[in-house]
Amino acid sequence: NPVIVAIDGPSGTGKSSTSRAVATRLGLSYLDTGAQYRAITWWMLSNGVDVTDAAAVADQTGKPAIVASTDPAAPGITVDGVDASGPIRSQEVTAAVSAVSAVPEVRARMVEIQRAAAAAAPAGIVVEGRDIGTTVLPDATVKVFLTASAEARAARRSGELGGTQSVADTQAALIRRDAADSGRKTSPLAKADDAIEVDTTELTLEQVVDRVVELVAQ
Ligand code: C5P
Repeated sequence: NPVIVAIDGPSGTGKSSTSRAVATRLGLSYLDTGAQYRAITWWMLSNGVDVTDAAAVADQTGKPAIVASTDPAAPGITVDGVDASGPIRSQEVTAAVSAVSAVPEVRARMVEIQRAAAAAAPAGIVVEGRDIGTTVLPDATVKVFLTASAEARAARRSGELGGTQSVADTQAALIRRDAADSGRKTSPLAKADDAIEVDTTELTLEQVVDRVVELVAQ
């Protein structure tokens, strides 16, 4: 049976680095679902859709073709055949993604794409996001929920952004996005009852990867 590993948690907890490394170590495919929400958000912004208008977003949801690589050695995402890996990390997209991902039609389409990717993975897949263990793949072999202190998360994100934003600004932005992600009716971020929580605050990436690989081996 293919191995399905669900890795959820808020941003800055090391989800992407952990998920890619676990997939590489175990010879599995890898899917970054946040990149898919970012990609559809980028398309909406690029096409002049008012992202605060849920009906307008819902109406356009089916239009862009979003294709994510599931190779952990070469992650990337295209929108209508155009490489969007860079633009999806812009501050404009980051600021708009919570609103777009709150639209039920968007979530329904993303979940469909994500389940198809998991079903197509030959040996299995590591899928990272917010709602993988609860909604996308509730029958996953192993579910992990990563956490970290607000300070550790902000420091990591600020590092990822190459120090272009102060740790304090990054922490404020993270807290805003967490609130937007968890304060709505269609809140995606949730720990599944059978998920194992790993607090990464005091752990190195390698220690977190070892822990998750151990859980899969059990
Ligand atoms: O993981 P990342 O921070 O790139 O995710 C970007 C945004 O996409 C999140 O802030 C959240 O609004 C949305 N998201 C989601 N469900 C997921 C993954 C991401 O709603 N499974």
